[in-house]
Amino acid sequence: MTIFAQDWTTPFGLPPFDQIRDEDFAPAFDAALAEARANIAAIAGSAEDPTFANVIDALELAEGALDRVAGVFYNLSGADSNDAREALMRDLAPKMSAFSSEVSNNKALFARIETLWQGREGLGLTPEQLRVLTLYRQMFVRSGAQLEGEAAERLTAVKSRLAVLGTQFSQNLLADERDWFMTLDEADLEGLPEFVVTSARSAGTERDAGGPVVTLNRSLIVPFLQFSPHRALRQRAYEAWGARGANGNAHDNRVIAAEILALRQERAQLLGYASFADYKLEPEMAKTPAAVRDLLMRVWQPARAKAEEDAAVLEAMLHADGIAGPLEPWDWRYYSEKRRRAEHDLDEAALKPYLSLDAMLAAQFDCANRLFGLEFREIEGPFYHPEVRGWEVTRNGAHVAVFLGDYFARGSKRSGAWCSAMRSQRKLGGAVRPIVVNVCNFAKGDPALLSYDDARTLFHEFGHALHQMLSDVTYGFISGTSVARDFVELPSQLYEHWLEVPAVLEQHARHWQTGEPMPAEMLKRLLAASTYDQGFSTVEFVASALVDLAFHEGPAPADPMQKQAEVLEGLGMPRAIRMRHATPHFAHIFTGDGYSSGYYSYMWSEVMDADAFAAFEETGDAFDPATAARLEKFILSAGGSEAAEDLYLQFRGKMPGVEALLKGRGLLEEV
Ligand SMILES: [Zn+2]
Repeated sequence: MTIFAQDWTTPFGLPPFDQIRDEDFAPAFDAALAEARANIAAIAGSAEDPTFANVIDALELAEGALDRVAGVFYNLSGADSNDAREALMRDLAPKMSAFSSEVSNNKALFARIETLWQGREGLGLTPEQLRVLTLYRQMFVRSGAQLEGEAAERLTAVKSRLAVLGTQFSQNLLADERDWFMTLDEADLEGLPEFVVTSARSAGTERDAGGPVVTLNRSLIVPFLQFSPHRALRQRAYEAWGARGANGNAHDNRVIAAEILALRQERAQLLGYASFADYKLEPEMAKTPAAVRDLLMRVWQPARAKAEEDAAVLEAMLHADGIAGPLEPWDWRYYSEKRRRAEHDLDEAALKPYLSLDAMLAAQFDCANRLFGLEFREIEGPFYHPEVRGWEVTRNGAHVAVFLGDYFARGSKRSGAWCSAMRSQRKLGGAVRPIVVNVCNFAKGDPALLSYDDARTLFHEFGHALHQMLSDVTYGFISGTSVARDFVELPSQLYEHWLEVPAVLEQHARHWQTGEPMPAEMLKRLLAASTYDQGFSTVEFVASALVDLAFHEGPAPADPMQKQAEVLEGLGMPRAIRMRHATPHFAHIFTGDGYSSGYYSYMWSEVMDADAFAAFEETGDAFDPATAARLEKFILSAGGSEAAEDLYLQFRGKMPGVEALLKGRGLLEEV
């Protein structure tokens, strides 16, 4: 019997990390999967008439053992991996996906859910139960539970071909990114900051190039385009970057993209939808392609106007350098960086001592205290790694959650930053309070000092953590962050706004040695820099999102490149800006289904977070208690218990407008 099958007598029921051994995971998963299968077979095969309790409640509790081991394992495999954990990840992937398709293809189980759904009016369900039933049924229907015979077989074939094509698209992209590099002479290093030179040299060593090189890795090519004064080199690098996946070699993605779009269209039609976008957007807050287009176009117009204004300034700088002709895409970042240094220069090295990790943690906890009355008391481990810190979260003396922070980069951690729940909140079957983890990749130091971007990341992930910790629902299926994709970034992006409240940095951004507050001039520059070059970023983003939508909205285009060209032409794409992700390397939408006809969702969330923060600003108090109480009641504690638009309406009293976003991005003059 592994530790996962025993009762945990640890404080707060934390996993007993010091007793978990890597060799426990495989048998624990096997046992948990067998238990889940037996539970589901019993639910599907029950001789009793279906009731909410014997179908939905039972399904909610059927995978308890699996949740327990998976909650620990998937956190460890992302935050602190090793060879054994990686090998197990590979073994588990097909096992877990087989299990989930077994459940969604279980006809007897679906029949019981369908019976409940058809008779839902007479079941005396609470609104939350009705919502959970609706979502379960929707999940089954959307994966094809209502299809029979040939149509069901064809859907399975389409899905598996799409999985193959998605992997191929991603591998082609990797191959093109790996193959290309441009060697630099010592003279070509002119103008490049030390960190770019260092990474160009180490990339050269890695490729045996006999000198520094530029590669297509974003973290190298973007700073090269920003800093290199050599226009011809910038052009060569930029064009190679833009040609990924479209080089006419064995890794060309253009034909694959066309096949993917055609198969998605077929998949949507098999399931009874007019287009793939209609299928994808149904469970989202946006709901329809028209709503997405409307939002994007309202942002597009002012963004394009701002970008054209900026292009004129940058083109004048190009001409002042003695170069004739128009500003080109390989010029934008270079002249924009020059202009940024002149107008907004911030000395990162002078800034960081005011942003120690401890000071920013105090700031994030203090904001949560002022808004929601939460208190944080640091607790002792053992946790899963010596660098992990833990806090007990309480309110008025009552336990709310355990919060873990794992902040430093290390070899065993994947890149990026994320929030996950090792245990989610629910009330069914006995109250369960959450254990929530924030994982970041900050540079270690003594003390650790953050950049302003790092501090934003810290607040962002903590916003997700609040969504989990304040969750107050009965069913785990809709707990915490289990909400629509275009709604899930609202709490996190919203929380970033409190970092921009001047009083927060005035109070907490203190020099770690002297305790002095950040100089007022530095604070002003810092807060002003956030709107810099937003015309460019918004245009390159929105253009990509509109092309994504056009690909999935009508009949699948036979030639996606032609379609892309038509969309951009129709938009009046500024000459010196290209799509953030052109079709042959648009991994978000072609390597899987996550963001297909969903690339807009980043912008959608941003519209909402700006509008939601405006609700606080309109009261004249960024910590207004009544607004904070509504935020908690209708958004942070509500999980997916109601449709996202209903939750937002109850919080705000109206649907979000784009004005606050445009203002926040500096695309609209203050009115
Ligand atoms: Zn996020």
